[in-house]
Amino acid sequence: MTRTFAPEELIRTENFIGGRWVPASDGARFAVTDPADGKLIAEVADSHVADARAATDAAAAALPAWRETLPKERAEILRRWHALIVANQDALGALISREQGKPLSEGRGEVAYGASYVAWFAEEATRVYGDLIPQQHRGKRMSAIKEPIGIVAAITPWNFPLAMIARKIAPALAVGCTVIGKPAEDTPLTASALVLLAQEAGVPPGVLNLITASRGRGIDAVGDWLQDGRVRKITFTGSTAVGKHLARESAGTLKKLSLELGGNAPFIVFDDADLDAAVAGLLVSKFRNGGQTCVCPNRVFVQAGVYERFTALLAERVSAMKVGPASDASTQIGPMINSKAVDKIARHVDDALTHGARVVTGGKRLPELGPNFYAPTVLADANSSMLLCGEETFGPVVPLFRFEDERQAIEEANATPYGLASYFYSNDMKRIERVSRALETGLVGINEGAISSEAAPFGGVKESGYGREGSKYGLDDYLSIKYLCQGNLV
Ligand code: ADP
Repeated sequence: MTRTFAPEELIRTENFIGGRWVPASDGARFAVTDPADGKLIAEVADSHVADARAATDAAAAALPAWRETLPKERAEILRRWHALIVANQDALGALISREQGKPLSEGRGEVAYGASYVAWFAEEATRVYGDLIPQQHRGKRMSAIKEPIGIVAAITPWNFPLAMIARKIAPALAVGCTVIGKPAEDTPLTASALVLLAQEAGVPPGVLNLITASRGRGIDAVGDWLQDGRVRKITFTGSTAVGKHLARESAGTLKKLSLELGGNAPFIVFDDADLDAAVAGLLVSKFRNGGQTCVCPNRVFVQAGVYERFTALLAERVSAMKVGPASDASTQIGPMINSKAVDKIARHVDDALTHGARVVTGGKRLPELGPNFYAPTVLADANSSMLLCGEETFGPVVPLFRFEDERQAIEEANATPYGLASYFYSNDMKRIERVSRALETGLVGINEGAISSEAAPFGGVKESGYGREGSKYGLDDYLSIKYLCQGNLV
């Protein structure tokens, strides 16, 4: 029987190293709070270098046996983990909403989304094929096999506290790697709960290790992983600045990296689009998690002929959105993650207003709800001199840029160092073909705002990083290819 845990049972406040829940080596702790009201949820282990080292030691000790397990044995453990995640969906979803702030329906949705990667990689585990290379010389057999890369360090952000770490751990375990992980300081509890379920599923001691840490001590702890030659891979989701830091600091031991970094997604609405579908797609992609996702449209380009009509349709829907704490089941937009996040949003909006933008709806903090709330906002007359054009706002703000023709839309959409997601709406087949090819991003939504799927390759180009998560390509990042040449056969 798949065990279901009471919500409080899922809360773990220690590190998980070598199959045991242990405090930080010096006993330090830090507070995890509810972003809706600032109330303490728990105090968790605040790890430092010694804890990071202990996690690597445990992962190194477990690696030889784990990599020799049969793929179908690893698949079976992942299937059990998946079943446990699904069986505990309500409690996990509520925990996500509590420490991260997203509406309850989205918390539950994230559990299903994260679980889908575990199911996917349970299946992919048994399909890691190599190649027998067509014979080149008589008496010689050449083949290529794929091997687990070794110890994988997974560093994750707070916006999807379950899905981001699940989609890193699952492929790593599937191919026989061992894992050391550190979740974001704002949301460590969900990751620990997930690891508890992995333990329950039968992941052997040392195969999966997790340390939690506050920002400063976490940087030191991860620093130890970056320097340690035993750690062969870093998989990271977070900001571009930190991604570059990880690439630089791990260069000394030439680790393989997967970096899923910031975006600045364009969303283009052409004159020939189905405007109702475009509004619906924008709402889904922009306001999920209060606009705090790396694939959220950050710049919305609308062709001149439909600009006013699109603005009016959008404003009507956005002004009706319900803002509140996750604990209220009718909430559609929760609090932002912390005060720094709300300050950035306010700075972007103020800057846009001084550069000629017009508030169509929203455009203000909501102090009556709490210090971390910001109203869903539509700004008209956005232009490229505004801060929000160059940087991710990471909040519920839609700036509407006006454009005249397709060439201008593509040029402006690509005028950013980032290249994660893009979206466009058009009913012209030839335009769809042209624009899909011209957009410089790893993901393109065509008449669609909800594009993520465990079956699809997720990842960026340019300064949005490299590597792909999910899909049949998602295992490659955790594998290395070995060439075998056997001679003297005839
Ligand atoms: P965000 O802006 O979403 O918080 P960050 O890139 O700052 O994204 O953080 C993502 C993850 O990277 C978190 O787990 C955070 O603790 C970690 N992190 C931040 N700075 C560093 C650093 N210098 N070295 C290692 N990890 C870091």
